[in-house]
Amino acid sequence: QSLISCFRAFAKEKRSSLYSELKCILPFARKFLLCNSGTEAVEAALKFALVTTGRAKACYLSSSFHGRSLGALSLTAQQKHRDCVAPILPTMVALNPSDNASISLVDGETAAVFVEIVQGEGGIKLVDIDYLQRLEVRCHEQGALLVVDEIQTGFGRTGSWFAYERADIVPDMVCMAKAMGSGVPIGAVAMGERVGPMPHGVHGSTFGGNPLAAAAAVATIETIREEGVLGRAEQFGVMAIKRLNEANLRAVREVRGQGLMIGIELRKRVVPLLRRLQTRGVLALAAGPTVLRLLPPLIIGEDDWNRALSMIIEELQS
Ligand code: PLP
Repeated sequence: QSLISCFRAFAKEKRSSLYSELKCILPFARKFLLCNSGTEAVEAALKFALVTTGRAKACYLSSSFHGRSLGALSLTAQQKHRDCVAPILPTMVALNPSDNASISLVDGETAAVFVEIVQGEGGIKLVDIDYLQRLEVRCHEQGALLVVDEIQTGFGRTGSWFAYERADIVPDMVCMAKAMGSGVPIGAVAMGERVGPMPHGVHGSTFGGNPLAAAAAVATIETIREEGVLGRAEQFGVMAIKRLNEANLRAVREVRGQGLMIGIELRKRVVPLLRRLQTRGVLALAAGPTVLRLLPPLIIGEDDWNRALSMIIEELQS
């Protein structure tokens, strides 16, 4: 018999295995907080940044999405999510990643800067590596913490364990959830050496890191490693973007993405296309009004992936 849920002082075995696995894939991390969802991870990271620095301001990128609870919403640029509750935390400032000058808004009052390396809800937009590197330098100069939201991009989605690896930056915190438990709810914050110390008991959660969820996350990490998921995500992504571009589709403005996180920007609204694909068994998502977002299962077979791409191309030709 094993417990599936238990206060964190007990039943430590699965959680310890998870910490060891997380340390291997997030070498910068010194501590972890385990929680139950993405928005909770962002809330915790925001709180840890405010507690660590004693500052009240945080920055986020325009087009960002970080979750639907109040702290995470304050860091979310999209009006459709914010409007119903405005005004929310007043000391949050948006940075435009297309404008290097926006980096100067990170100052001595700033506790943290939150970034998605590939903006998911924002339209599968890849933030420029040069911008991210400048941001990292500025954060260090100003004593602010750099927090990378890998809730959508993490665990192999973009062809590496985490998208920040490709940008060659070292974050102070990484937020993760979604794929971490392969469908079992779990989230986490990985913290580097610049985070803390924090007062004892500053944060916690009844179910965060429970043995069932921790076992699911360990199994997820093992499977990604054993089945070569990272390489396949990279290879299938490159192949898909090439195929979509070579199809020369008039309805398409741009195809972009990394690994198996792909956005097809259309010249018209995406919802009718989503419906047509759904009737053919292809489940995709919108990322804004005109972007078709493809996030296939990372274990998809090559034939299924090619078949789905053929259907998408056919629908876009019609
Ligand atoms: N951050 C990003 C980048 C996300 O894509 C999401 C969810 O879509 C969240 C945060 C919020 O995660 P959750 O829905 O688990 O609260």
